[in-house]
Amino acid sequence: MRSMIHGIGMTSQRTRDRLVERLRSAGITDPAVLEVIGSTPRHLFVDEALASRAYEETALPIGHGQTISQPYTVARMSELVLGGTVPEKVLEVGTGSGYQSAVLARLVSKVYSVERIGALLDQARQRLRLLGLRNVRLAHSDGSWGWPEMAPFDAIVVTAGSADIPEALLTQLALGGRLVMPVGTHDAQRLVVVTRREKVYEREDLDRVSFVPLRNGAS
Ligand code: SAH
Repeated sequence: MRSMIHGIGMTSQRTRDRLVERLRSAGITDPAVLEVIGSTPRHLFVDEALASRAYEETALPIGHGQTISQPYTVARMSELVLGGTVPEKVLEVGTGSGYQSAVLARLVSKVYSVERIGALLDQARQRLRLLGLRNVRLAHSDGSWGWPEMAPFDAIVVTAGSADIPEALLTQLALGGRLVMPVGTHDAQRLVVVTRREKVYEREDLDRVSFVPLRNGAS
């Protein structure tokens, strides 16, 4: 583990430090998020052949037509999930590589993450275990339905885009809880934050983004 983290060249601590500096200049301010990204070995979440590109500001393929989001997006979503607080229970829809789950696991008490593609979930589980992150629970299912048995959540983060926000997710938010999700299709997609208040859901439309689509069913 140690030798992998402190490996040579493009996967070294120096490379991660440079990434943190870039994120800071790009406007990420939450010190906890920057610290965690600076110490999470992102190269372990992509195929070995892509490891040398793991710290570039780009999304990378993770197989099955899916991608690991670019570092800025992971940082930004993590910052929005926290919203200056420390949420206890967070649900992630779209485990993918497991990188966003790993980052969240070090920022909140308990992470629940669901993925519809079984093969990706198995790989993510191995990576999280290798890093000793025991506060992540994973499930193989269609995350549009959330994880009702574990609700309510202080925050929900959806890492795949859709024209509409799944109703089930909104109902699984705790009072004061926030949902962070790419909403809209293709060129018109934005990160949206929805906060559950006593009588209403407050919605804020933020940065333009481009995510892989949220799909139905599990495979
Ligand atoms: N958070 C991931 C990003 C992966 S891309 C990471 O850090 O790597 C989005 C993921 O959402 C893909 O793995 C895709 O299979 C998954 N996904 C899409 N629709 C889904 C759904 N309805 N339920 C669960 N996962 C879904």
